[in-house]
Amino acid sequence: MTKVPCPICKTLVNWEKQTDTRPFCSQRCRLIDLGEWLNESRRIPGEPAQIPDRNPHEDGGCSHD
Ligand SMILES: [Zn+2]
Repeated sequence: MTKVPCPICKTLVNWEKQTDTRPFCSQRCRLIDLGEWLNESRRIPGEPAQIPDRNPHEDGGCSHD
């Protein structure tokens, strides 16, 4: 019987045709892998922080003599 380590938890699993969680040991590990993959593709490349509009408000230095 062929045994392969689960890519997620490294548990040795029997490599059988009827094992539909291959190459993972369980559905759980399969979902973990899928989840990681999704997270990876969902990652948005660093959006620039929004800079609040700065009004170049010049304090009127009304030098009035
Ligand atoms: Zn596993």
